[in-house]
Amino acid sequence: MISAVMPTYAKTELSFERGEGAYLYDKNGRHYLDFCAGIATNLLGHTHPYLVHALKAQAEKLWHCSNLYRIPEQERLAQRLVEHTFADTVFFGNSGAEAIECALKMARKYHDETGNPDRYRTIVFDGAFHGRTLTAISAGGQPKHTRGFEPLVPGFDRVPFGDLNAVREAVGSKTAAILIEPIQGEGGIRIAAPEFLQGLRQVADLSGALLIFDEVQCGVGRTGTLFHHQSIPVNPDIMTVAKGLGGGFPIGACLATERAASGMTAGSHASTFGGNPLAMAVGNAVLDVVLGEGSLRGVQRAGRLMHAELEQLVRNYPTILAETRGIGLMMGLKCVVPNTDLVAVLQSHGMLTVPSGDNVIRLVPPLIIGPNVVEQAIDILDRSCRELAKGHDSAS
Ligand SMILES: *Cc1c(COP(=O)(O)O)cnc(C)c1O
Repeated sequence: MISAVMPTYAKTELSFERGEGAYLYDKNGRHYLDFCAGIATNLLGHTHPYLVHALKAQAEKLWHCSNLYRIPEQERLAQRLVEHTFADTVFFGNSGAEAIECALKMARKYHDETGNPDRYRTIVFDGAFHGRTLTAISAGGQPKHTRGFEPLVPGFDRVPFGDLNAVREAVGSKTAAILIEPIQGEGGIRIAAPEFLQGLRQVADLSGALLIFDEVQCGVGRTGTLFHHQSIPVNPDIMTVAKGLGGGFPIGACLATERAASGMTAGSHASTFGGNPLAMAVGNAVLDVVLGEGSLRGVQRAGRLMHAELEQLVRNYPTILAETRGIGLMMGLKCVVPNTDLVAVLQSHGMLTVPSGDNVIRLVPPLIIGPNVVEQAIDILDRSCRELAKGHDSAS
């Protein structure tokens, strides 16, 4: 018999009663170090007092209000995102996939408005992930996500990640946009080289295509700058943001330049829930913390510490780990053993991580972690690798 919750997830038996900071607690009181963080979503950990206060205060005033009316909290969050990025304007939705939908609709509309309705195609990359709507799986193109859902949304041309010549060859008179994750998350913490992203900017400028960065996973401080591309630097025309932006409250955002958004006039796009007062109050509170004194430097510091320790683990356990990946607190360990084996052993030792593509485990902790938590994480990783190595040695 089918479960009441539609069985689309391969869930573990774990469930949690409460969370605090970087820890989750089950109903028996056992705690877990949370380096999954809702898949890079609980940006500031669990029940952060400042976020709890912001949510409660707004809940006493107004939860939801239609976008038929002005929403001051929404205007404030949009203005702050504009001030801190390349963007001139922001559309709010509730998820990453919705932000992607907005970005792709916007690119088509831009070309339609500027007299090129034939320009509707988008260049996308191997290993990409952009969400689970029909358009997003068509852009992502991974067989495990698309199988059985055909026909897919047309208009995507896929090239190898990092291959600028392939991009140059794929761009044509019908290309509307290039869509890329500056760091692939689900794909296995694969980092686009700075020169590659700068090359994409040039290709876009020469061809008139729009450049879209999907920072749904790598954005909002995770890599040590507010948005990852700002460290390169190279600017997109459009950017999608979600996961970390609400610190666990569902928010998606699509940021754009005035030029890219020129077709997005009244009536062109909408969302019932998008940008409602409750979500925006939390989003503003998240930004208060992330933009606060020392936050991003803290991410850089914790990231450096983690990376040095992870490098050492890779040297110590060559039969288990192949390499470390990542920037700031968006980290990955490429495994020699099946990544799901390591995730399971870590879980049995009280630490949560996320498997991803390319046989990598993702370490995407809350940005609030300090040296103590880093030390605990490394200790659990060390014990887990040792346990796996023992089994490995006796088996061979
Ligand atoms: C998670 C993710 C999405 C999809 O976000 P949802 O909120 O699940 O729709 C899109 N792009 C990237 C890069 C992601 O990591």
